[in-house]
Amino acid sequence: DSVFAHVVRAPEDPILGVTVAYNKDPSPVKLNLGVGAYRTEEGKPLVLNVVRKAEQQLVNDVSRVKEYLPIVGLAEFNKLSAKLILGADSPAIQENRVTTVQCLSGTGSLRVGGEFLARHYHERTIYIPLPTWGNHTKVFTLAGLSVKTYRYYDPASRGLNFQGLLEDLGSAPSGAIVLLHACAHNPTGVDPTLEQWEQIRQLIRSKALLPFFDSAYQGFASGSLDADAQPVRLFAADGGECLIAQSYAKNMGLYGERVGALSIVCKTADVASRVESQLKLVIRPMYSNPPIHGASIVATILRDRDLYNEWTIELKAMADRIISMRQQLFDALRARGTPGDWSHIIKQIGMFTFTGLNAEQVAFMTKEYHIYMTFDGRISMAGLSSRTVPHLTDAIHAAVT
Ligand code: PLP
Repeated sequence: DSVFAHVVRAPEDPILGVTVAYNKDPSPVKLNLGVGAYRTEEGKPLVLNVVRKAEQQLVNDVSRVKEYLPIVGLAEFNKLSAKLILGADSPAIQENRVTTVQCLSGTGSLRVGGEFLARHYHERTIYIPLPTWGNHTKVFTLAGLSVKTYRYYDPASRGLNFQGLLEDLGSAPSGAIVLLHACAHNPTGVDPTLEQWEQIRQLIRSKALLPFFDSAYQGFASGSLDADAQPVRLFAADGGECLIAQSYAKNMGLYGERVGALSIVCKTADVASRVESQLKLVIRPMYSNPPIHGASIVATILRDRDLYNEWTIELKAMADRIISMRQQLFDALRARGTPGDWSHIIKQIGMFTFTGLNAEQVAFMTKEYHIYMTFDGRISMAGLSSRTVPHLTDAIHAAVT
């Protein structure tokens, strides 16, 4: 008998499990709106042209070798990543107060940041928004932090519960860590306005809470890298400390390359350098050092003015297609006379729409229309196309009537 005979089957991951179910469905009209990955109008994955160009350059450079990177990753990639999120003129960067380490995409950056905090920060509680990306709770719990939630989404308005957010952060213990989605909140698509961000900043600083930004969608929300970085830059500009986890999965389409960065903005250069020495002790026993290929692609693009400009154009095109899908779906539901106010579809931001459909309606749409999505009613606008909008409209209409 197997020594593992007692092992019970674990449930499928709630998000990745949607794709597993989708793959098993033989229907020709099936539609996967569960994945958080960009698709073209033809429903195909997209490799950015600028990424192909960068890869070509890397292949042609015969001096390139496959040696190990340092524990903290590719130095140039780290510098350019900090500049991308904090801005080229960031005083914190100029004063050497930022330490940046290359990590395994957004998830790995969150995990390394979480483990560092659990070892070296005085307050072990992290507040995450309700709801949030399903992996946050697990990542931070396993990192050794104690996870609590703050109110974020208001189902009635399908918008932000700003009052609830202020109350919950206001009653958090001094020093607690606060996880903030830098832009394009997942799963709700609801972001604070810049004025609200400023109020959140004042509250966080007045209570000495520690902000930890999850930046998985820079450039994907508005189409502008700078506009989407405004909330993070607002916090960095006050001279206070914060952590930032960056992912290049969505904005460069580098999902499988697992390329991201953790930056910790500190009060002084001396603190930053000591923090970095401890980050190395977190990383070394976990995976020794990060992979070289994806970081080389990103550095090649970020260092070259022409490639950078080309990237911003391709990124804007992805963001614009998603925004256009919002409009098309909204118009189609209106034209169809589907009961309900669907204006949240065009008000929400980023890759996802939090439709307001409940688990029962989702199950109905999957069973009768072969449309796959998470049970919280979240649909990926990036998985939709002009061709599939009518089918989704039929399904929603049938589900709510
Ligand atoms: N954070 C949020 C809010 C996300 O939506 C995602 C991906 O879906 C991630 C982090 C991490 O993604 P990755 O590890 O692929 O960069």
